[in-house]
Amino acid sequence: MSLNNRTAIVTGSTSGIGLAIARALATEGANVVINGLGESDAVAAERAAIERDFGVGCTYSAANMLSGDEIRAMVAEAESRFGSVDILVNNAGIQFVSPIEAFPPEKWDQIIAINLTAAFHAIQAALPGMRSRKWGRIINTASAHSKVASPFKSAYVSAKHGIDGLTKTVALEAATDGVTANCVSPGYVWTPLVERQIPETMASRGLTREQVIEDVLLHAQPTKQFVTVEEVAGTCVFLCSDAAKNITGTNISIDGGWTAA
Ligand code: NAD
Repeated sequence: MSLNNRTAIVTGSTSGIGLAIARALATEGANVVINGLGESDAVAAERAAIERDFGVGCTYSAANMLSGDEIRAMVAEAESRFGSVDILVNNAGIQFVSPIEAFPPEKWDQIIAINLTAAFHAIQAALPGMRSRKWGRIINTASAHSKVASPFKSAYVSAKHGIDGLTKTVALEAATDGVTANCVSPGYVWTPLVERQIPETMASRGLTREQVIEDVLLHAQPTKQFVTVEEVAGTCVFLCSDAAKNITGTNISIDGGWTAA
């Protein structure tokens, strides 16, 4: 499969799953716009590495996913630099773990904004171009938490259930225009996002680090393995292929059997 002459925006791709998705799409020949927070030298090095390793164009957008205006500007800049945005991966996400009574309202707002509303803004900006070219792939990184809940993750579970609904709606609206919209839903993937929630989970449940890893994180996954970023990226590449052109409105689990239970 080749994604030559396609351009992808991958939000939240300075780290973890998003970076693996950006690199996997570049491997297939797509130009990529990477985005996310991060130390400027490290981001510049990653951007240059993608161009060097895969011979594609790669730009960096510092758009903050809390800002609709910055998201719209990111899409417009990508269209102007590369001529199109053909693949949009809404992947940026944050997590916060707390019992609901103590859940800071500002954390709720941030999680809904970054994990859900940002995808709405990006889709709204990128979809008209995809429709006009009769080809597009929208992939939203959801989570096993788009299908099932866990305690202490009220905002995250709400945002991820929400993005599943957004994805299905967009799939229906764009169905006759060659544009698909799907969720990929990982279980626990070993990334900075998971590492950061270990201390919070230790505090909220009164557990040791080892107990959090074994009894909370891997407890949910029948395979007893963390999912890898490459496995998530491989699913995204497949969704961009012609073989996947009739796969739309789905929510694909990559969770070691977690949501089968
Ligand atoms: P990560 O922390 O490694 O990466 C998150 C990315 O989002 C980073 O690039 C970060 O800079 C970016 N980001 C955060 N706030 C931003 C903002 N305001 N504006 C722009 N970018 C911002 O985490 P990850 O594990 O790679 O998570 C990526 C996605 O996968 C998230 O949507 C997450 O919910 C989802 N997910 C992760 C797991 C897991 O176990 N790691 C499981 C299921 C779903």
